[in-house]
Amino acid sequence: MVKVRTIADTTVSIPTVEGAGVHLRRAFGFHKPELYDPFLLFDDFRSDTPADYLKGFPWHPHRGIDTITYMLQGDVEHGDSLGNSGVISDGEVQWMTAGRGIIHQEMPKGDKDGRLHGFQLWLNLPAGEKMGPPRYRDIGVGEIPTVRLADGVTIKIICGRIGDIVGPVTGIAADPEYLDISLPAGCSYSHPTRTGHTAIAYVIGGSGSFAPDAANCGNTSLLLFADGEEILVRASDQGLRFLFFAGIPLREPIVWRGPIVMNTEEEIVQAFLEYHNGTFLGRQ
Ligand code: FE
Repeated sequence: MVKVRTIADTTVSIPTVEGAGVHLRRAFGFHKPELYDPFLLFDDFRSDTPADYLKGFPWHPHRGIDTITYMLQGDVEHGDSLGNSGVISDGEVQWMTAGRGIIHQEMPKGDKDGRLHGFQLWLNLPAGEKMGPPRYRDIGVGEIPTVRLADGVTIKIICGRIGDIVGPVTGIAADPEYLDISLPAGCSYSHPTRTGHTAIAYVIGGSGSFAPDAANCGNTSLLLFADGEEILVRASDQGLRFLFFAGIPLREPIVWRGPIVMNTEEEIVQAFLEYHNGTFLGRQ
């Protein structure tokens, strides 16, 4: 018998304000980070109102984590201390490994109708990689494979694999999966998960049940799965679209202040000292 994952916790994302005054919804982050290990934070910044997002996320540092931005609709302009600049647009992903340090800004612009639909996930780096080299991966729409199953289920693979199809981001310590899964009305889908890996779903459209114990989960529902060998999902008559994350828990101390996540208080103090005295990027 395959062991289907039950639901360890279910909630909905909560409105909050981030950056220079961006109104968004936080699904998890800052509270009980060990529950979501290796993931740290997930923000849903979907909005059709430019006033919600135009103030953006001006220059700020990151160290010790990956930030992963996934856009469904609208543009986010970015620039950083490595000299990169560009736009993350509809269907694109930016997978940033901050490592020992990046200073960047992320300024949402939306689309011509004022829509900005996107998400940002933070993934922790293991102690041995927190001071590694910073890196960006800019992933175009054409690089993200879409797997279409016989019953109409479609899966976009940002990271991970479905059968022989592998997503564009590889070589990440926590061996994460990041999938965008759509089910037609009434359809069921089971997704294999490795035992011991943390597994999380966040509903972004329609509604459905996450068997065996979470029914009627609609937009903005967050589900944290207990351990097991697969997740089992069934769409309501509205269909269901959800993001799925899984990865190996790092089980290391998490000392977190704002955009910097390290293992000890000393490392945090050091990071902010360097940021304030201008040596944050000094060893690059
Ligand atoms: Fe940032």
